[in-house]
Amino acid sequence: MADGTESDSRKLLGRLREAMAGDDAGQARLDKITQLIGDSLEAEVCSVYLFRDDETLELCATEGLKPESVHQTRLRLGEGLVGRVARTGEIVNTPDAPSEKGFRFMPETGEERFSSFLGIPIQRLGETLGVLVVQSREAREFSADEVYALEVVAMVIAEMAELGAFVGEGAALSARHQQPVLMRGGTAQEGAAEGHVWLHEPRVVVANPISDDPVRELERLKGAVEELRVGVDKMLEMSRDGDKDQLQVLETYRMFANSKGWMRRIEEDISRGLSAEAAVEKEQSHARARMSQVSDAYLRDRLADLDDLSNRLLRILTGQGVDTGAELPADPILVARNIGPAELLEYGRSLRGIVLEEGSVGSHAAIIARALAIPLVIHAGRVTVEALNGDHIMVDGDQGLVHLRPDDTVVSAFRDKIAMQAKAQERYASLLDKPAKTRDGTVIALHMNAGLMADLPSLDSSGAEGVGLFRTELQFLIRNQMPKRSELVALYSRVLDAAHGKRVVFRTLDIGSDKVLPYMKANDEPNPAMGWRAIRVGLDKPGVMQMQLQSLMRAAKGRPLTIMFPFVAQFDEYRAAMAAVNKALAREIRLGHELPEDLEVGAMLETPSLAFAPPKFFEEVGFLSIGGNDLKQFFFAADRENERVRRRYDTLNVSFLGFIEQIVKRCALTNTRLSFCGEDAGRPVEALCLAAIGIRTLSMRPASIGPVKSLLRRSNLGEVAQIIKEARERGDQSVRPAVMEWLGRQA
Ligand code: PEP
Ligand code: MG
Repeated sequence: MADGTESDSRKLLGRLREAMAGDDAGQARLDKITQLIGDSLEAEVCSVYLFRDDETLELCATEGLKPESVHQTRLRLGEGLVGRVARTGEIVNTPDAPSEKGFRFMPETGEERFSSFLGIPIQRLGETLGVLVVQSREAREFSADEVYALEVVAMVIAEMAELGAFVGEGAALSARHQQPVLMRGGTAQEGAAEGHVWLHEPRVVVANPISDDPVRELERLKGAVEELRVGVDKMLEMSRDGDKDQLQVLETYRMFANSKGWMRRIEEDISRGLSAEAAVEKEQSHARARMSQVSDAYLRDRLADLDDLSNRLLRILTGQGVDTGAELPADPILVARNIGPAELLEYGRSLRGIVLEEGSVGSHAAIIARALAIPLVIHAGRVTVEALNGDHIMVDGDQGLVHLRPDDTVVSAFRDKIAMQAKAQERYASLLDKPAKTRDGTVIALHMNAGLMADLPSLDSSGAEGVGLFRTELQFLIRNQMPKRSELVALYSRVLDAAHGKRVVFRTLDIGSDKVLPYMKANDEPNPAMGWRAIRVGLDKPGVMQMQLQSLMRAAKGRPLTIMFPFVAQFDEYRAAMAAVNKALAREIRLGHELPEDLEVGAMLETPSLAFAPPKFFEEVGFLSIGGNDLKQFFFAADRENERVRRRYDTLNVSFLGFIEQIVKRCALTNTRLSFCGEDAGRPVEALCLAAIGIRTLSMRPASIGPVKSLLRRSNLGEVAQIIKEARERGDQSVRPAVMEWLGRQA
């Protein structure tokens, strides 16, 4: 680009800065901008259209079109050329607008006189706020330099809109981040919560997008990039022996930090009059826009890395750290793109709810959120772009909805829902000391699932009879290094102390699949859920298994101990695991340590194969617990992590229920104790049907015990069994409709 043009655009930006510095009201500022651009580009028309709501663009200022059309002319998203720019986020530059696809004639503006059209999206961080348009009578295509200058102006307008420059008296635009927004995401932990936004990583505010001293800005950029490079190199050095994925991310960081193309574009923008931070943000905005269009997962990850890197650079340039000094609100709802398990645990139970742009049902963050019973919505659109610290927010974890800055109707409906849930909680509390005894006299034992020390207080408050599943891997997942044996002994011992003699079923490490330890080399497996995980890792790495078994034995000394092995697929694996238990016992005896008073060892039934194991297995195993989450995914061959298929097959499908019934029967033949500890145990209707086909012990999240107990106490199991039988005979695919209909009749 010629030097002359560079200084032209700088001149334009300089004048723009003067215009913005005055204390005009919002509308006057926008009018000045359009006037200025019209003058500088020698175009007859310059207009700014901004979004009024998600679907409507409004002409907010114009130089050249009829003044009375301002705030009158509106377009729907996608309508006309302006609507096309807004929808696609792509520039339209044409010498003959009327012949363009989608052209819409707007007589009220008098625009038929104009042939050329240049429309530039006004975007901030990948979000389109409006469209900047220049038109001229003469049929010509606008030059690359003119397009460039306007792109920069559009960015400055976006930046100012973000800062509220057009808001106030005579507002051209209602303030950004003030409208209610509804986001639909996925549900990862149920529950409803109301509170105020706490951004895990607050957005960087670029207060001065324009600069008249490019030399100084280039110096600032150079200094900041150097600081960034040194930081990334240090991180790389520190994690040399670390996890492969992390290293790859850091290498990508370094690649970008040294990338000539990336730097060159930023430097060019600075020499044209942008401040260093505005230039970085402009690049970031482009990357985000690309990110929303790229479907290749690898490329998307790299663009996300670039986004992180830009954020780091922006923080260095603006001096805005992650710690802004803001205080955590009393009712914080955490909003983040993603969050790691350790960071989430640091917030702990102080959080009312969590909203993530990314995440997955099986992610570590989701596991922790579930353990803490904090409502969690994942895949919540662009929540980190929309939300500001302190915004009022309501999270509906049951439906995966997020209401940001909700209006009064939503607030009152949502509060009704919360009140109803609170009322139900009161009802459940009144059942605390009562048994889960059905109308026809069957008592179902309700236990809770746990994984953190923080879960243990729920043992009393939920009325659970014991811990039916203690997921020991959580302790391994939240650390940066393998915990020491002494740490594990102390932890397991505290768990047993807190259980006050109630039974705790410790499940040995279930790592692999979605649960990858940050400090263990990850194996690239095409199907990790069916790969090297759980007991398979334990048997192949006897050192780790011995360490865990010994820790459990030492923690339990003199007290009863229950150990359960996950993911046992065949008898031999259980035998090998028993041999490991006996080896650990022998060692404890040799060392003269006090042994557990009583030792029970069982297995999880999570693969269909184990249901068909020889009778001898059922005789030898201490007890069995059906891990319904895994069992169901293998039964239907439907990945529990895959949003497209995970809800496709109903747990109450007659085939699946029939399969579980066969397991119940096999256990009855050998008197093998059986429980069910997958998520379905905590869903009242599912729990009722499981009880009706013969399951007598259910283990679930503590918060589910009340609702499950309440329904069981109101139901007659014999009648439910009859409903299931009839549904089967009719050939229904799932017994759910029939059971729901029956429940409706009971109400
Ligand atoms: C299960 O698979 O049902 C289970 C309880 O184990 P996890 O969810 O930890 O895999
Ligand atoms: Mg499992």
